[in-house]
Amino acid sequence: NKKNGKLFNKKDLEFVEALANQAAIAVDNAQLYELATKDGLTKLYIHRHFYSLLESELKRVQRYRHVLSLLMMDIDNFKDVNDTYGHLIGDIVLKEIAATIQKTIRHVDIPARYGGEEFTVILPETATANAATIAERLRQSISEIEVKVDDNTTVRPTVSIGLAEFPTVATEIKDLIDCADKALYVSKRSGKNCIHMFVDNEFVRYNPQS
Ligand code: GH3
Ligand code: MG
Ligand code: MG
Repeated sequence: NKKNGKLFNKKDLEFVEALANQAAIAVDNAQLYELATKDGLTKLYIHRHFYSLLESELKRVQRYRHVLSLLMMDIDNFKDVNDTYGHLIGDIVLKEIAATIQKTIRHVDIPARYGGEEFTVILPETATANAATIAERLRQSISEIEVKVDDNTTVRPTVSIGLAEFPTVATEIKDLIDCADKALYVSKRSGKNCIHMFVDNEFVRYNPQS
């Protein structure tokens, strides 16, 4: 019965039904959006959606004359993990790294799965120096992940990271991605599990002490 003691009538039922239909449509839309934009394994944005989000972020940065940093990350020696322990363990490592990225970055940062074992994070309103601090926090947290294979074996993944600032080092989306990617490969060549940033036409290694 209603609060006022009267019985519910047909009109009330129709109202509730209409409301439920709207809610169902909203839930369907949300689920479709998730499916279309996020990767099933890691629940992070897929490449295509990352790209369109980055495009709109860059437009915003240009309009307001702000800066943004782009972080690129690649798992170190990941092929060995698959080859030694199998793809299922590899997938668990991917999931753990994605979850660690999610909980380590700030609320405004936008993480995505860039490729198979590559991740990217858009860091809005962030210059390279601050981006490096976030990158170091990520590198550190990921290096603390432990995926248990059996009683005697644990996988401890590490990642290499590259950073580039927009529009300081690149004014086009492709060039920005390219700069961050190149910085990442300098990290790979420098022994992995480290961070490089592209500044003043040079690749600079991030040193947490300095
Ligand atoms: P590096 O330190 O130079 O990055 O070496 P790497 O072994 O990580 O790099 P490489 O590009 O040789 O290997 C990447 C591997 O990532 C190969 C591929 O099997 C694996 N990979 C990509 N996507 C997935 C996935 O979804 N699941 C699993 N388990 N492995 C994946
Ligand atoms: Mg790779
Ligand atoms: Mg790799």
